[in-house]
Amino acid sequence: MPDVFADLVGQDEAVVELRRAAAAAAAVLRAGAAALVPAGPASGNGSAADDAATGGLDPAAGMTHAWIFTGPPGSGRSVAARAFAAALQCVHGTGCGECPGCHTTMGGSHADVRMVVPEGLSIGVGEMRALVLRAASTPSGGRWQVVVIEDADRLTEAAGNALLKAIEEPPPRTVFLLCAPSTHPDDISVTIRSRCRVVPLRQPPAAAVAEVLVRRDGIAPDVAQWAAAAAQGHVGRARRLARDPEARKRREAVLAVPRRLTGVGAAFDAASALIEAAEAEADASVTEADTTERAALETALGAGGTGRGAAGAMRGAAGQLKELEKRQKSRATRAQRDALDRALVDLAGFYRDSLTMALRAPVAPVHTDTAALAGAGAQKWDAEGALRRLEAVLACRAAIEANVKPRIAVEAMMLALWKG
Ligand SMILES: [Zn+2]
Repeated sequence: MPDVFADLVGQDEAVVELRRAAAAAAAVLRAGAAALVPAGPASGNGSAADDAATGGLDPAAGMTHAWIFTGPPGSGRSVAARAFAAALQCVHGTGCGECPGCHTTMGGSHADVRMVVPEGLSIGVGEMRALVLRAASTPSGGRWQVVVIEDADRLTEAAGNALLKAIEEPPPRTVFLLCAPSTHPDDISVTIRSRCRVVPLRQPPAAAVAEVLVRRDGIAPDVAQWAAAAAQGHVGRARRLARDPEARKRREAVLAVPRRLTGVGAAFDAASALIEAAEAEADASVTEADTTERAALETALGAGGTGRGAAGAMRGAAGQLKELEKRQKSRATRAQRDALDRALVDLAGFYRDSLTMALRAPVAPVHTDTAALAGAGAQKWDAEGALRRLEAVLACRAAIEANVKPRIAVEAMMLALWKG
């Protein structure tokens, strides 16, 4: 029988840390039960002050009250958080996958585990206060109150502050598990981050991704293998490539870049095309959600209402709509950044293939469908030229990460790729 961590593909380090934490948490519970101390710190280790500061949990022992799971979309942040929640509720303290604690948590029906999934609207301050209040109650199952916040990057500022208060003075048996793309201040406030332990998830290896596509999504093994390799281990991207012809078309356009770079003009054209394609892809991914969210908020606010109090309600509504627009704008920016980054990763894969071929390294190409072209590049450029081009792509990613304007970074990269 697979345990609760089985679906967390290719995250060995994170799984080791989470298992250790679950064991430490179980030890804290056992110590509490043995000492029969009704309230306050139960552990004999450390000073009373240390215990008070950590609410009775010793962080050095592997367990703490607040966690952030970070990683690119598709790396399994919420899968990891749910598995950890199950391990905390597991009667064996291991996440065995068989006991009632594991079962109900994985099935979403454990009384002491709350999964907060912001559907449509972001998590507002009212919801967060209610959540924090309930999370402070004694766990009915005698173990932990666990609150999982998926997309913690979508907390409003006020909701973030309400959460921060709870994390700063955590009730002794409450654990918060947050999921966010990164610990960048755009995603999670610096003060919340400073109170949490971070579990970084990486992109799983291609073989593990292919296995999941076949097992869970019923995709044919050869398609799954191609998609997993082409997506360089990114689960969601691999699934899209396997299923969505538009995603395959966009990828092909990116991989056509190397043979299009015939001069300075062509390099600038290629830069424009890449930027615009990323914008179009991002638009397609967020427009539908934007429209649905706005409609949901307008309905919730009773837009167009009349009568007593309607004027005041509409003033409040305008503020909420403005906040929604602000969040949607920042989400659009991130979607563009993500789409451009995916294109750059595809391009880097191409030059990596050229490099490994020039070195005659015994590794499989990332892009099997452009392997011949990468091979031609390997002959023309040699290993050194392929490496310079790969470095130009990676430098472009790093520049954008460091907030260089994407168009400028991409133009510089295209020129470097053309000149070699
Ligand atoms: Zn169990």
